[in-house]
Amino acid sequence: MTDRAAARKQPAEMVFAEESAAEFPAVSPDSILDGDVHNIALFLDCDGTLLDIAPTPGEVRVPAGLVELLKRISDGLGGALALLTGRQLAEIDMLLTPIEFIGAGVHGAELRMYPGGSITRITNTLPAALIDDVMHHVQKLPGIIAEPKGPGIAVHYRLAPHLAPSLEAELRTLVARHADDLVLCPGRQLFEIIPAGHSKGTALETMLKLPDFAHRKPVMIGDDVGDIPALAAAFRLGGAGLRVTGEQFREGAEFGGPADVINWLQRLELLLRK
Ligand SMILES: [Mg+2]
Repeated sequence: MTDRAAARKQPAEMVFAEESAAEFPAVSPDSILDGDVHNIALFLDCDGTLLDIAPTPGEVRVPAGLVELLKRISDGLGGALALLTGRQLAEIDMLLTPIEFIGAGVHGAELRMYPGGSITRITNTLPAALIDDVMHHVQKLPGIIAEPKGPGIAVHYRLAPHLAPSLEAELRTLVARHADDLVLCPGRQLFEIIPAGHSKGTALETMLKLPDFAHRKPVMIGDDVGDIPALAAAFRLGGAGLRVTGEQFREGAEFGGPADVINWLQRLELLLRK
């Protein structure tokens, strides 16, 4: 198995078995710019893709000009730009104020179908008892940060990576009590408990049916396990999945980091003006 295949299969099998079974071949980002850029539907992860990872989620910084760049690209694509994030969309709105982009939050559990539109939660919130159990466990672990977010909860271990194995074991035990409804998704220095049956891949498929997105070639860019269903869906639906280097994708990713992605977006925006 190649490094690339291993990177896709190993953790993803635990969570997104069906979607991750799909292969998505390497595609040069430059080749997409050489094609018909006006016919793209663009799907972007946020943390680790547009925004550099910070020690804690609250410390991320939005690069100067990013919001305006995304808005111009959205306009240039006739509205066919969506953000697919593990965060709640309300958080992304605050980071990218004043624009409220089309997008999916909490790995497809929340959807906004048009710019500035309301956020629809398509799953239940997490059971209060489960949140209590997670918070209670985390209180005993210095450096572990739990972040409840409506339909899901993220537990970050970036500040205490040595605790990851025991943390994962405990979270798996808690999730097993809700095996029909919830899954544990590993990510970049975090674990997330999220609703089963929803993913960034299901969100991408839903959005590609919107009038502004339909009949376009989907291009998804992401850096983490939770992006794999959307990377695979973009390929399956006639487009491409492009990976960003990070803890999840190390060898052979198409982008070196968020600065690399933003440079590509700037080039795309120039081409869209033509
Ligand atoms: Mg990410």
